[in-house]
Amino acid sequence: MPTKKSQNVDSMRNFNRASVMKLVLENPGIDRSRLANKTGLTNAAMTRIVQELLNVDLLKETGSLKLKQGRGRRSTGLEINTKGGYVLGLSILASNTSVALTDISGAEIASVSVQPSDLSDAKFTLDEISAAALKMVDDHKIRRDQVLTAGVAIAGYLDVEGDLWLHSPYLRWPPFDVRNSLEKRLGVPITVENVNRCVAVAETRIGCCAGMTDIFLVRVGLGLGVATISNGKIIRGHNNTAGQIGHFPAGQDGAMCSCGKSDCITMVASGWAILDQLGLRSAMVDGVFGIEDQDEKLRLVLKESLSDEKIMQVVQGAGSALGSHCVAMLRAIDPQRILLTGPVGRSSIFGKAFCKQLNESAVMTKVITANDQSIFSPAIAAAALSLAENIYSPTFNVEKLLIEKSHKKNTIGDTGEFV
Ligand SMILES: [Zn+2]
Repeated sequence: MPTKKSQNVDSMRNFNRASVMKLVLENPGIDRSRLANKTGLTNAAMTRIVQELLNVDLLKETGSLKLKQGRGRRSTGLEINTKGGYVLGLSILASNTSVALTDISGAEIASVSVQPSDLSDAKFTLDEISAAALKMVDDHKIRRDQVLTAGVAIAGYLDVEGDLWLHSPYLRWPPFDVRNSLEKRLGVPITVENVNRCVAVAETRIGCCAGMTDIFLVRVGLGLGVATISNGKIIRGHNNTAGQIGHFPAGQDGAMCSCGKSDCITMVASGWAILDQLGLRSAMVDGVFGIEDQDEKLRLVLKESLSDEKIMQVVQGAGSALGSHCVAMLRAIDPQRILLTGPVGRSSIFGKAFCKQLNESAVMTKVITANDQSIFSPAIAAAALSLAENIYSPTFNVEKLLIEKSHKKNTIGDTGEFV
């Protein structure tokens, strides 16, 4: 049994490895002595850690050897070995079920949307998405053991322990251990998170807001939701359901919302509001099939809004309404950036109206819309979040990779080329 002291040493080692991986990701070409300086570790300790990470192919040495000033010694730069490991990203939303593959720097290799045959059946849908993910790995001639982790963006919220699907108004899946179910299917550590939070965290880690600690993200599709990162931490709330602003009272009577009230922000500022005002919203939407149909209508309407004056005004109206309803929240949290994304958030017409309204309400925070620049898709964001939580993290089990690597070497030595 490991002693407490050996456990402490192990966790310190893992912490140091994670710090080195992060520094190399952020400073490609950095050498061992600068790494030692930045982490406060000795050169000898750094040499050992770097050697371990080179042994498991997570890092590689850059070709250029720089002559160190004044010392006459050559130093070798280091970078993340983008062929050293891969990550899967899954998105499970009523309107967007897809799979993505990235390398361990977070760069996209492939993305494909998956059409589940029955999205209302949770287990069957997980089977199909997992099969599509593994096929993508095989198609790219990547060994399955090179896939180190996977992330899942969901249209819903997990319970406070982060296991059970607690609330998913559109999918209406029963509570079950989503993480465990997917770990069994994919055989790697899984991170599951609400889609809005996935995108917000991924953008602050490796995206357009890298390094920022305070952002407010609004994702608008048929419905809408927000994710807030404050002081570097995602705001989860007591029940882990923070961010559902769609059902805030809008202060005016609108159409009947799915929650049974008739003055929700959703019904004046999101895709539902746009469809409703154009007379295209189905009175009874029951389950995911109705949602898929409405989502298709919405995408068509957004396309037409570029040329049809009436539709344009409706989309503008929804964008302004969202802007005015966000003012109080923005004053309360004072973010460094506002991100607007999702199928409706990506519309230039909606985005401009949203920004104009904020401006008129004297909110001067810079807004980044998914129309101005690329914001991670849910599946890529899920992969990025999983990278941050499972690879560039002290929980990453490098020891296991080292053992597997030495085992593989021995096996190859024993049995020759037929392995
Ligand atoms: Zn509502």
